[in-house]
Amino acid sequence: MKLVCVDCSAELSWRESHTACSCGGRLEVIQDLKMLDGERLKTVFQERLAERMSVYASGVWRYKELILPGVPEEHIVTKYEGNTGLYTSEPIRSQLGIRALYFKAQSENPSGSFKDNGMTAAVSHGRFLGYKHFACTSTGNTSSSLAMYAAWGGCSSQVFVPSRSVSVNKVLQTLAYGAKVIRFDGTYDDGIRFLEQHGEELGLYVCNSVNPFRIEGQKSIIYEIAQYLNWELPDWIVIPGGALSNVSALGKGLEDLKNLGMITKLPRIALIQAEGASPFHRMMADGQDELIPQPNPATKASALNIGNPPSWKIARRVLRQCQGITCSVNDEEIMVSKKMIDQSGIGCEPASAATLAGLRKLMDDRIIDKDERALCILTGNLLKDTDILAETTDDMVYSDLTIESLRDL
Ligand SMILES: *Cc1c(COP(=O)(O)O)cnc(C)c1O
Ligand SMILES: [Zn+2]
Repeated sequence: MKLVCVDCSAELSWRESHTACSCGGRLEVIQDLKMLDGERLKTVFQERLAERMSVYASGVWRYKELILPGVPEEHIVTKYEGNTGLYTSEPIRSQLGIRALYFKAQSENPSGSFKDNGMTAAVSHGRFLGYKHFACTSTGNTSSSLAMYAAWGGCSSQVFVPSRSVSVNKVLQTLAYGAKVIRFDGTYDDGIRFLEQHGEELGLYVCNSVNPFRIEGQKSIIYEIAQYLNWELPDWIVIPGGALSNVSALGKGLEDLKNLGMITKLPRIALIQAEGASPFHRMMADGQDELIPQPNPATKASALNIGNPPSWKIARRVLRQCQGITCSVNDEEIMVSKKMIDQSGIGCEPASAATLAGLRKLMDDRIIDKDERALCILTGNLLKDTDILAETTDDMVYSDLTIESLRDL
């Protein structure tokens, strides 16, 4: 295993902490898959489904050979993350008229979002290197996740949260786990820059979305989906895009499975951005060569409120490899789809509902066909944003306790 620069191809050791190459390029983990046998791995992964108390009971570390093979078990900080529900919802499926529809509820992770899949890998890597202090910049869920794993691993965490457009629940959750929260005037992108400049001199292990080990951990989401579906994936995987770490991880995970012969056909990826924060979608739709940052991103889906996504090059490569597409949806479309997901009994935060909103739009535009099978990745929990819930459920409360109000059930 090694780290490779996306821009200049320089190689660095994975036994050190780096957030970027000296040329400024992003780093990516390259696994050594040559020694592995895909069929044998399927058997091992299947056997581990019976584990309960070992690190292999985790829905991330079940796939350790493909994530951080070199880190010994005693350094792993796990809360048995992953292991989340893969659901079908007949009412939503029939409303869309699509052949098959799945939801992968990463919202059911221990801190309530898919960030746990990546964070367990990053914190374990940092612990392995001997770090005691961890840091990140976050739109909220990354900080909750880091605060949880740092506490669980007996370490400290410092998180930088923009003072606007962040859900109060996420900040409170982060504080409750004992993190030091630094709220600052500025955007997510400013916080990223600060940590890239000063993280090292402060002795902090930096867990922003550009941490390459987080991406390795997040690959487990697609491994788990593939395993649950008996190694046969749907035609489309639909995911929301903010910093674009999730789409990068999804693409890398698919590539691993394909290279190991564990799947035969690659699904196509549909990446959905919120209209108010959609610089990547615009670049792809307009056929531009470079991403033009959006200075004042604004969407109710606060987890997607990112104007300068750092991993856009990897994301573009991933989409090209799997004939992927991008799409943007507005906040109203997101909220309509969120209501459908909530009332199905699954539930999610606004950013996650961008997937269903995007799927519906892509079906209307005849890009996704009724005869195809789609899977939406739900990234965050229903309770992550109670301000939004209060807004949308206001008119659902009856104020009279009378027999009349309950007549027509
Ligand atoms: C972080 C996050 C996203 C965006 O994922 P990226 O990897 O930043 O593109 C989407 N939904 C939720 C709930 C998140 O926490
Ligand atoms: Zn480089």
